Amino acid sequence: MLDNIIIQHPVLSESLPSYYLHFKEALEVLKAKFGNMPVVEWEMIGAIAERCQVPKTKIIDVIKVFQLSGDLVYFAGSEAAGENQNEKFVSHLDQKLGFVIVEPQWITQLFASIVSTHSDYIKNGLLSREVLEKEVWPPSVVPPNVHDQLFRVLSSYGIIFHIPGQDTILIPSLLDTKLDNLQALWPAHNPRSIQFTRFYSFTFVPSGLFSRVMVHLLQLKHNYQYWQTGILVDDESSFCLIQYHVDKNRISVAARSKKDVENPAVLFSSINEVLEAVIEHQLRISVQIEIPCPQCLISQILQPTLFTKHSCEAAATQHKGIMECQIFEETHQIPLYKLAPDIAMIDFECRRITIDSQVSVGEEIGKGAFATVYKGTFENKTVAVKMIDIPKKCSEEKTIEIMQEFRHEVRMMSRFQHSCLVELIGFSLSSPSALVVEYLQFGDLYNYIHGNQQYPLE
Ligand SMILES: [Zn+2]
Repeated sequence: MLDNIIIQHPVLSESLPSYYLHFKEALEVLKAKFGNMPVVEWEMIGAIAERCQVPKTKIIDVIKVFQLSGDLVYFAGSEAAGENQNEKFVSHLDQKLGFVIVEPQWITQLFASIVSTHSDYIKNGLLSREVLEKEVWPPSVVPPNVHDQLFRVLSSYGIIFHIPGQDTILIPSLLDTKLDNLQALWPAHNPRSIQFTRFYSFTFVPSGLFSRVMVHLLQLKHNYQYWQTGILVDDESSFCLIQYHVDKNRISVAARSKKDVENPAVLFSSINEVLEAVIEHQLRISVQIEIPCPQCLISQILQPTLFTKHSCEAAATQHKGIMECQIFEETHQIPLYKLAPDIAMIDFECRRITIDSQVSVGEEIGKGAFATVYKGTFENKTVAVKMIDIPKKCSEEKTIEIMQEFRHEVRMMSRFQHSCLVELIGFSLSSPSALVVEYLQFGDLYNYIHGNQQYPLE
């Protein structure tokens, strides 16, 4: 076996340096010695390689050959290694925290130890890290100093996922494959009430994609039921169903309200915000985000018109409130807020202000690349009005980006309210879009500290 691999290995060609055989002998000694707990830290592997006269620059080549022959499994210590299996062999500098398992069978047992954990410890596919470290992996079986690396390895294989901010681990394989009473819990779409739908389509799906998304959604403070390919969120007034369609490489998100008069925009927008952040910024995989025409869905058209999220954003930047769906002989006029409540910002309706009639705008007090700030008055209070001014030569892409930034600013500012933070009073999406914020008479902190202080900081 070893001979065959060595012959095929391009680096080695025909002649085999004797250190390969010395290293093989040393491995056998290690196996005999550490058979029960065969985790050998990189430092020790380095020392053994040196004793076998393996040149420093060849250590990785030697390790690769023995990994191919099934004699060992090597895990690099860098963060990147855990996230991407293809980057297991990272640069020589990153190997300090890596380790080698000299009995590959042991890794299989470790995987099995997780998925066969006693059901008393696991509830809804969740296991506390404390139980895992004390009961499933006692120090006599798994050395505590390799726990972190093993977590990364098991995550890269999609076996476990740590839920950020909680001391809990999700084990997707222990989740139910479907939710039996989904039909009953997810009521039929009532054409009188609003339903929002969004599709995330992928050309490439990394392993464990939906589980990775799930661990982030499970952090939201809602009631939910979840299974291997779905989550049903229940937030008092609305439901949101997030499903992974394996055959279509697609995640769909749909939100419905419980009563006709209510609007599921807030729940829908917050779920999509998390999904987009995880997919685009954390996992960084390319995704096509599409919105099916709600009128087509009500008419039960099998292949509804799909609007790209991008086209909705472009319409919003041009202050267009209507999108047109042309299907068969029909034309559906769909208000933007029914397609994308987050782009139309109807989930922040309470903060909407009409600048022309509600705010009197006075002198200019500041200017940035894409905005001018004025002093103004709103409800007898002095305010600062930040008006977005997009230069005429600005491309559509840049304009969309500026408006995404603007919506993000409104969301963040409304979320964080504190006496030390500038308060968001309101916003307007009509032309020009504007933010109305608390007026700070001493200007911004940076200029205050670095400029001529009329008043001391105290
Ligand atoms: Zn339509």
